[in-house]
Amino acid sequence: MSLHPVLSALGLSENESGTYLGNDEWSKTSDAGVLEPVNPTTGDVLGKVLASSQSDYDTIVERAQASFKVWRKTPAPRRGEAIRLCADALRAHKDALGSLVALEMGKSKPEGDGEVQEMIDIGDFAVGLSRQLYGLTMHSERPGHRMYEQWHPLGLIGIISAFNFPVAVWAWNSFIAAVCGDVTIWKPSPKTPLSAIASMKICNEALKAGGFPDLFFLFNDAGTELAQTFVDDKRIALVSFTGSTKVGRNVGERVAARMGRSLLELGGNNAIIVDESADLKMAIPAIVFGAVGTAGQRCTTTRRLFVHESIYDDVLSKLKTAYAQVEKKIGDPTDPANLMGPLNSQDGVKGFLAAIEKAKASGGIIESGGKALSDRKGNFVLPAIVTGLANTAEIVQHETFAPILYVMKYRDLDDAIDMQNDVPQGLSSSIFTTNLKRAEAFLAASGSDCGIANVNIGTSGAEIGGAFGGEKETGGGRESGSDAWRAYMRRQTNTINYSDALPLAQGIKFDL
Ligand code: NAD
Repeated sequence: MSLHPVLSALGLSENESGTYLGNDEWSKTSDAGVLEPVNPTTGDVLGKVLASSQSDYDTIVERAQASFKVWRKTPAPRRGEAIRLCADALRAHKDALGSLVALEMGKSKPEGDGEVQEMIDIGDFAVGLSRQLYGLTMHSERPGHRMYEQWHPLGLIGIISAFNFPVAVWAWNSFIAAVCGDVTIWKPSPKTPLSAIASMKICNEALKAGGFPDLFFLFNDAGTELAQTFVDDKRIALVSFTGSTKVGRNVGERVAARMGRSLLELGGNNAIIVDESADLKMAIPAIVFGAVGTAGQRCTTTRRLFVHESIYDDVLSKLKTAYAQVEKKIGDPTDPANLMGPLNSQDGVKGFLAAIEKAKASGGIIESGGKALSDRKGNFVLPAIVTGLANTAEIVQHETFAPILYVMKYRDLDDAIDMQNDVPQGLSSSIFTTNLKRAEAFLAASGSDCGIANVNIGTSGAEIGGAFGGEKETGGGRESGSDAWRAYMRRQTNTINYSDALPLAQGIKFDL
């Protein structure tokens, strides 16, 4: 196995420890299993990552607890300075880390760079936030009393992340948590451990150079045993989980059973509605990017499309033409000429093919693609457009994490909104229309039930400034911008009596 130049550019070797123990120490454990991340473009193993042991995990939690005791007393603007250094270090390594994300996950180089840019952006956001962790003051009902609330650091935050955003999700959580005074422990996806190790090295070196304590810890699990210990661990105040609904449901239940907090960012089944007034010059590229971008492996990928019956044939024909162009540009995602890369794993390919078979068996018509490209190495598929299925079909209700777009017809907007809402998930949604009333109806309380609802932009991706997350089986969590920081802090209400009397609330008398 020769070292890939992208790994050497980041100072990584073929054999890496997957455990950052704190105190500038990477674990030497070699008997807890090995992870072998695979390049999805070629099927080649990129390197070996030594998994963490129970004893590594115990050391991490003890050291993280010690770090938290110092960090919670550090003034928040000073905490912001630590994250400013991390964001600057990521700026310096953006090209190399973006290339590694593209290589290991299989997304395009611009998307890999874009993911690192999201880390930088959330870092900048967190720096500003470190001076804005505001609480409210309230008017007390009692004379000579003052009431207010303050936000205190929560403690240790556990981050479990998915393969498709191998680095940004960690930064969304850990940078905000750090300015909130928390210390984070990260368990990344076993499919993308190298991107995680590189991110930790870049940020931890920046913290060390700035004289800051350890804020970020890392462990990698060969199976799921340690991850489950992590989820059940009472010392972890909040578990921020990003992944499938199936695993997330289990994580949420286990954390709730120990009365911990969880932040769940789970699967989506996102739809676009295209009405009869839509500007198709905008709608078609948005649909195609939303459905085939990152090879359909975004939580916000467009999976369902509702088209007004009067323009249905036209939209379908334009989509088929666009897909035919995409098919010519499927290949190595690090080549900028390509529009679509591989699926991350062979399991992903199997899931895609099984969904296509199920769609056909339910009466679906494959209008485009729907096949694996088995004539070459790697996990490449032809993205599919499927018609002829109702929104209620079992396969349409399900999130297949691959590029499959179910296209359906509607007559009345109310019906389209009902269908778009009628799935278990509630992440991202959008309408293409030039009709103001219909746009507002879509955004109203009786409109989209998703955490994200857009007008004239697609479902895929989001800016860091807003709170990100979704309803129903997407888990209800919110992270990134707006006031999502509150999830990483505990609220304390304080009442101060500066009078000489002790009036009880609600005028209650208690004469002694
Ligand atoms: P996954 O659920 O298979 O794995 C997610 C993480 O959970 C991994 O780190 C995995 O090792 C860990 N894990 C597995 N079993 C566990 C257990 N028993 N206890 C604790 N942790 C466990 O998901 P995936 O295939 O990596 O990612 C794809 C899924 O993630 C899709 O459903 C996608 O929609 C979702 N996702 C959601 C968001 C969002 O913000 N809503 C973002 C990205 C991905």
